[in-house]
Amino acid sequence: MQDINPSAVNELESLLISSPKTAIVTHMKPDGDALGSSIAMYHFLSGYGCTKKIILSDPYPSNLDFLARGIEDDIIIHTVQPADAEEFIKDADLIVCLDFNAFHRTDKLEASLAASKGRKILVDHHLNPDSDCFDIIFSETEVSSASELLFHILMQMPSVERQTERLPIAANEALMTGMTTDTNNFANSVFPSTLQMASALLAAGVDRDKILLNLYNRFSESRLRLLGHIMKDLLRITDSGVAYIVLDSKTLKEYNVIEGDTEGFVNMPLSISNVKMSILIKEDIGKARVSIRSKKGTSANMCARTYFNGGGHENAAGGRLNIPGDIENIAQASTYIEEKTTKFMTEENEKNI
Ligand code: 5GP
Ligand code: MN
Repeated sequence: MQDINPSAVNELESLLISSPKTAIVTHMKPDGDALGSSIAMYHFLSGYGCTKKIILSDPYPSNLDFLARGIEDDIIIHTVQPADAEEFIKDADLIVCLDFNAFHRTDKLEASLAASKGRKILVDHHLNPDSDCFDIIFSETEVSSASELLFHILMQMPSVERQTERLPIAANEALMTGMTTDTNNFANSVFPSTLQMASALLAAGVDRDKILLNLYNRFSESRLRLLGHIMKDLLRITDSGVAYIVLDSKTLKEYNVIEGDTEGFVNMPLSISNVKMSILIKEDIGKARVSIRSKKGTSANMCARTYFNGGGHENAAGGRLNIPGDIENIAQASTYIEEKTTKFMTEENEKNI
């Protein structure tokens, strides 16, 4: 990663000191990195005496409950308390934006963010940040996660002086969690700076075993049964090397799938040697949610942007199919994926020649 601009860190520090009301926001359908970086920022702000709340568009998955324990009252979820969420953002002096590059990624919070006069700070690791929307920008793609970038920024804060143990232990735990989920437990997006962070957090007393137990060993039996069904019956592989899985509402209901249950499934087909890209589709109301992962040389980001109304990172991206719109019903998803990805892979191959 590149060096973090010291004058931006100083500016951040003076904003933290002078802002009585701070909102922490992240992307819709928060994952471990989104919630982890938000909760770490929340605990770090405890040293500044401001009123602070984390504002989410939607609930977080229950396997992240352990991170939020004790601060649930300071997390406002728009689907539960829409007016409170919007009011807090609109009145905030300072808004810390974590793990997203443009307001629309916060879904139901977008309008309040655009309307708020509060100073906006971005800490993010996606491509193409919408720079007009933020006052201070920390954007770096050569890191594992927003949690990692936030860690390096906090290390440079004058009050921390690179002493990791000066950060609240709950902040350190949340940072370790966000980095762990975004790297798929050190399977991808690991940089030298990522291992330095992990080492410093361990040395500062973070209990990684507890984090791993909560993240990966507390799922339902039906989730593992679903994985068996997917790999045996639902996984398809196209001639152009695209693996895809379509989960319709009936299947999701049959296996009692809750938010977070399918996390990581999309990566698994990449273990097959001739698979270059993997797509997981989940039916939702009025749309299907799309997750895409690719091996080096194939751009998940470009595929998501071109055919799935989304974007993300080079090898990990997401988006949506509108129903009706892109497809008439979920039964048409397979045909859509086969057609679009065949075209996409031909174009990618031509680029690589
Ligand atoms: P996931 O497949 O885990 O939901 O998302 C993978 C990556 O793609 C994440 O970094 C996420 O921020 C990004 N992503 C997911 N959905 C969307 C989307 O609809 N639009 C954009 N621009 N990025 C997305
Ligand atoms: Mn992230």
